[in-house]
Amino acid sequence: MISSLLPRLEHVGIAVADPGPVRTLYRRLLGTLPYKVEEVQDQGVATHFIAAGAAKLELLEALHEDSPIARHIAKRGEGLHHLAFEVDNLTTHMARLQEAGFRLLQDEPQPGADGKRIVFLHPKDTHGVLVEFCESQPVLPTPTMVATPDGALAVYSWGSADRPPLVLLHGAAGSTRTETAVLARALAPHFHIAALDFSGHGASDVFAGAPLTADLFVANVQAVLASFGWSAAHVFGFSMGGYIAAELARRHPAQVSRLAVHASNAFWDEALVAEMNARLQPDALPSHVQAQLEHIHRDWRLLFDRMRTFVAGLPDLPDVPGRLQSIQQPTLITAADQDDLFPLQSALDLHAHVPHSRLGVLPGTRHGIARVSVPALAELLHAHFLPKASRSSG
Ligand code: ZN
Repeated sequence: MISSLLPRLEHVGIAVADPGPVRTLYRRLLGTLPYKVEEVQDQGVATHFIAAGAAKLELLEALHEDSPIARHIAKRGEGLHHLAFEVDNLTTHMARLQEAGFRLLQDEPQPGADGKRIVFLHPKDTHGVLVEFCESQPVLPTPTMVATPDGALAVYSWGSADRPPLVLLHGAAGSTRTETAVLARALAPHFHIAALDFSGHGASDVFAGAPLTADLFVANVQAVLASFGWSAAHVFGFSMGGYIAAELARRHPAQVSRLAVHASNAFWDEALVAEMNARLQPDALPSHVQAQLEHIHRDWRLLFDRMRTFVAGLPDLPDVPGRLQSIQQPTLITAADQDDLFPLQSALDLHAHVPHSRLGVLPGTRHGIARVSVPALAELLHAHFLPKASRSSG
């Protein structure tokens, strides 16, 4: 079983007007000085970390007058600012909390100190105490760079080599780091996993003038299979990765043992292209998202530009039903019941056309792997790729 941890107290945030005397205070109280100071520009704070048993204290110093900490001190003075609870899947807990009636101060997880992703609850819902939920960012393995004619691909690997091979494919304008890594961590006990960044995505090379096409992405996956010496593997793809996984399964059936796709769509029209491409307009994105994309991709503006062209060509794909009907592998199709990009009908259409397919529907309102319960999705994938009869061990 893949279990979900209960929230644990990770740190206590304390607003300080001047860190000097407060550092001295905690040295006198606890016998220790902060072990690290980190500036979080997005929040306008410098964070002084003090070890305190299983949890820690974070002294929060305003970097400028507009900082939420400066406003807090002006209104309420120095002192206790918030409690932070760590969870292993922040987006799952965000959905749980919203369902329970808590208002969140942010729609999406924000970058916090210490490499965490954080979100705050409205203090009116928590009897006056500001509560933060946080999640440590998955530590990615160092990628291996696999050379191809179009540039080097970043490939991340998890799990031991005696396990069945599984390839994980991220979505359009996504990356292993932001999409498939969370699934790789959940599945690593059962598989030897390779997750690649497609050409132009994540840590992979920016293609030298070659347009991004399904042919190129299929070739990307074949290069990874070859680099591991795998004649065949199970293949999972999220969104566009699902399309590429299905194309590989159809064109090169011997290379794909079993197939799974999540939140994928095969039938494109101009309205859906417009919806998708609205999400690929760099200047329409909030500045903090733009800042994150700088860290995720080598040249995210060029990538978004090329991906709009890729998406615009999708309605021209000939004979989509025939393509899907020629897939022979056992296939698992999963979807979030209220995906805001591809409606459930997208999954039903796939299920109707792919011959040996099963359908799994998870609660979820947004388009993304971590927007559904990752443990639940991992369980479905585990059961699909390793049916009980073929499992050698638990
Ligand atoms: Zn905090």
